[in-house]
Amino acid sequence: MRVRTRYAPSPTGYMHVGNLRSAIFEYLIAKNLGGDFLLRIEDTDQTRRVEGAVEFIYDTCKLCGLDFDEGPNNPGKYGPYIQSERLDIYKEYALQLVEMGKAYYCFCSEERLDELRKEADEKRIAFLYDGHCKKLTKEEIDTKIKNGERYVIRQKMPKEGISTYDDVVYGEITVENRILEDQILLKSDGFPTYNFANVIDDHLMEITHVARGNEYLMSTPKYNLLYDAFGWEKPTYVHLPMVLGGDGLKLSKRNGDASFMDLYHDGYLPEGVVNYLTLLGWSPETTDEIFTLDELIKIFNPKRISKSPAIYDVKKLNWINSHYMKKLDIDKLLSITVPHLKEAYDLSDKSDEWIKHLVTIYQNHISYGKEIVEVTDLFFKEDIKMNDECQEFMKDPSIANTLKIFEEEIMNISDWTVENINTVINTVKEKADVKGKMLYMPIRIKISGQMHGPELPDTIYLLGKDVVLKRLNK
Ligand code: GLU
Repeated sequence: MRVRTRYAPSPTGYMHVGNLRSAIFEYLIAKNLGGDFLLRIEDTDQTRRVEGAVEFIYDTCKLCGLDFDEGPNNPGKYGPYIQSERLDIYKEYALQLVEMGKAYYCFCSEERLDELRKEADEKRIAFLYDGHCKKLTKEEIDTKIKNGERYVIRQKMPKEGISTYDDVVYGEITVENRILEDQILLKSDGFPTYNFANVIDDHLMEITHVARGNEYLMSTPKYNLLYDAFGWEKPTYVHLPMVLGGDGLKLSKRNGDASFMDLYHDGYLPEGVVNYLTLLGWSPETTDEIFTLDELIKIFNPKRISKSPAIYDVKKLNWINSHYMKKLDIDKLLSITVPHLKEAYDLSDKSDEWIKHLVTIYQNHISYGKEIVEVTDLFFKEDIKMNDECQEFMKDPSIANTLKIFEEEIMNISDWTVENINTVINTVKEKADVKGKMLYMPIRIKISGQMHGPELPDTIYLLGKDVVLKRLNK
């Protein structure tokens, strides 16, 4: 049987890193086993629909290298791939269940249900629909439908016994059937609930592995009862632990949590983000941490997904992303840094050559594109400030002499090139009789306000003679 997985988002126009991680895991499960990866849009909650959301999902996944074998924009033979276009299908199957005695019409009003909820609240017990409409006769149902009464269709749950299934990540899951509610399958507006549509679609689309958030872990027994009712084979379940923010809370748009597109616009590299997200709750058999998507496809084993929630850690993301930054060619590097520089600083008097030189010397110092702005501010601001550590260092009495000689030599440079600046530094070494840290540090601190940075001659060169002399005289 051909392995098939699906990414099944609601079209909200937003994919936080947890959503993207689900898509990555689903993609990797399919590709590791030589199968298909599908996109299905779950828009049964029409209030959450956002214009352009499908394109947004395609764009995000494309950037990350996760190509869909089938989906709304590249349909295969299992379409439509958008749930709101499949309403007839759900209705047909819901009626089949009614026919088989596994589901029933329910005409209960909102008022009656509210009343039941209130009672349950007062008794401090979980609300479960009481099965009131299960007792209706065929005639009563026909009359109500003829009179235009609104109805939903509910699943008829067994009231005794237990239901068990095996999850790849969480192992054996067992629930008592008496806690399973006669859940709504079809709403009164003709839309299915997630609880129904996921089963119908996963079956009809021949999904073999259902990988999704663990919020569905305990409702899966209800879905399995539907598979059983129809006599369908159940998929393999891979429930994924949640990704929590650094604050330990659930990721959400409202919290301003990072979405892939935010990261992308900040100059993170999709390869880096995908690599990082795969390690969020999953680990390979070795201690290696840097993997291309192709390498991940080869080694991905969902059995190694952890049960505990994963914490989104920007530091680790930066560490992994910086690995990919170091490998970029100059054009790509410029494309993810220069727009941020332009936005932050006035570059009108800088040549392309100068900008390219600046970005190049910082390639190994930044972990994502936009970080170029903060690390290069010493080239753009009037005043630089030394931190305490620098000030402490500059108290050494020998430093004045080193800086004096450096200033004289810099003044005498007629041709402002990196080589000539390098020669000057060597001359200072000779004349002041200092080397190593005592040679470089005073100069670096005086002109940049920092103890560390890219190659000193390049830094001096890019600052320009006037600025260097001005800072030496401060
Ligand atoms: N539409 C569901 C969600 O966004 C998907 C769950 C699933 O993958 O089945 O949570």
